[in-house]
Amino acid sequence: MQDDRKIRSVAIVGGGTAGWMAASAMAKAFAAPGGSAGPTITVIESETIGTVGVGEATIPPIRQFNSMIGLDEADFMAATGATVKLGIAFHDWSAPGSRYFHGFGDFGPEVRGQAYRQHLFRLHAEGRIDSLEAWSLPSVMAAKGRFAPPSDDPRSVLSAYSYAYHFDAGLFARRLRALAEAAGTVRLEGRIVDVTVDADRVQAVVLEDGRRVESDLFIDCSGFRGLLIEGALKAGYEDWTRWLPCDRAVALPCPATRAPVPYTAATALSAGWRWRIPLQHRVGNGYVYSSAFIDDQAALDELLQGLEAAPVAEPNRLRFVTGRRRMAWKGNVVAVGLASGFLEPLESTSINLIQTGIGRLLELFPDRDFDPALLTEYNRRTAQEFERVRDFIIAHYHLAGRSEGELWRHCRDNAPPDTLAAKLELFRARGEVSLLEDESFREDSWAAVLTGLGVWPRRVSPLVQRLDLDQVQAQAGRLADLIGRAAASLPDHAAYLDARRRSA
Ligand code: FAD
Repeated sequence: MQDDRKIRSVAIVGGGTAGWMAASAMAKAFAAPGGSAGPTITVIESETIGTVGVGEATIPPIRQFNSMIGLDEADFMAATGATVKLGIAFHDWSAPGSRYFHGFGDFGPEVRGQAYRQHLFRLHAEGRIDSLEAWSLPSVMAAKGRFAPPSDDPRSVLSAYSYAYHFDAGLFARRLRALAEAAGTVRLEGRIVDVTVDADRVQAVVLEDGRRVESDLFIDCSGFRGLLIEGALKAGYEDWTRWLPCDRAVALPCPATRAPVPYTAATALSAGWRWRIPLQHRVGNGYVYSSAFIDDQAALDELLQGLEAAPVAEPNRLRFVTGRRRMAWKGNVVAVGLASGFLEPLESTSINLIQTGIGRLLELFPDRDFDPALLTEYNRRTAQEFERVRDFIIAHYHLAGRSEGELWRHCRDNAPPDTLAAKLELFRARGEVSLLEDESFREDSWAAVLTGLGVWPRRVSPLVQRLDLDQVQAQAGRLADLIGRAAASLPDHAAYLDARRRSA
């Protein structure tokens, strides 16, 4: 890169989770000791507009993000009221009373070059087991309410899982802001009322009080409105409502009535599903629903019926259109967070999509010539990642067997996207999952959800079938026993949180 063409300034429009994650990551990435000065970073946000005010559950890569920006775990957990998340318990998706768990870890070790799940699929086909969960350490830990960080020793059974957090995203943004400001990021408070554009590039944003902020690169973190990427540059939006009809949510926190469990609960309701997310200081609850199948008041009533205690805030009502921006990067604007698209939080993926978006931008960071090859690659990979998460979420609805509620019949009868149909066909044929680059969920995540919903492979690998069935069953029994004992040897989740609090 020619030094005289380098980006001198980055303006981040929006100070929600996306804006402050972008600011803290960029501040860290450009803080090269002894290197030349990085671009100036400015965050513009408006307290009167506020943030979306939800977003509490994450997936394991968030730990790499925190470590990359130098945020210590004990400090982070204390600042954000965080608890541990080992996965998601899905209730009532197949029928009332049904339950399955998607844990952050694989089902057992590889045996003779075959993923262990293949041996378990065979035991299922032979009628010897009815679920994979006893071979998922995080599922067993979650059921027992136990937690300790994974062992660093790859030979230990206690190395076979990962974890994420539940936390208050507003407090997370506040903590990130402190880090970013300490590293030199400038924050401007004010409402943007105008955006000046020249030849498909944003020149400046204009604040209500007349201040004008010019920049070489803009990161649009303005939330659903997509102030720059859509409002100014008209990047376009691909609407996925035909596959994912939920378009509203109502969120209602309540006080905790028991010690926090180390998992999210996602319970199917008449026209969508309800989340329960335990934090240290409260429980987050919300109902994601489709306005085509239930009205707002009935949705609120249904959510209230399931609450364990009286709510501590007024309902936060949200509207969204599931889909993605056709171009997440256009001209000199890169959209990150809700400005780049939205997928409902069934697998807690939005904050992760922010993280991967920022990572890609740093990898493909442009100079002021904005080489189109960088933009094309960024948009290709972003689109692909959004689509793969979309397919995973559609699978939950499409395969849900429940018969109560028109929404569920609609989702079952609705043909899935070709990409998902092909994935399901391969899984049904052989229990394999074809993954592309940048997929957030690996084979065993798919196996957990598909088998949890009652979809099992018709055949398993012939390499697995050669082994003696009784021996395979005996070995699987020993492994399940080992996993059960290992989980039981760990401390209570609540004890872990206490220890973390004391070390903050
Ligand atoms: P916002 O929070 O909306 O922030 C937008 C920012 O732009 C604000 O600072 C605002 O002031 C500023 N702004 C906008 N317009 C202007 C203007 N004109 N002038 C100046 N400033 C402006 N994600 C997860 O990972 N896990 C979850 O469990 C989860 N649950 C969710 C549940 C629901 C119902 C919804 C809707 C989302 C959920 N998310 C979840 C997503 C998560 O909340 C968002 O991805 C995340 O908070 C990022 O939001 P954001 O920063 O893009 O936008």
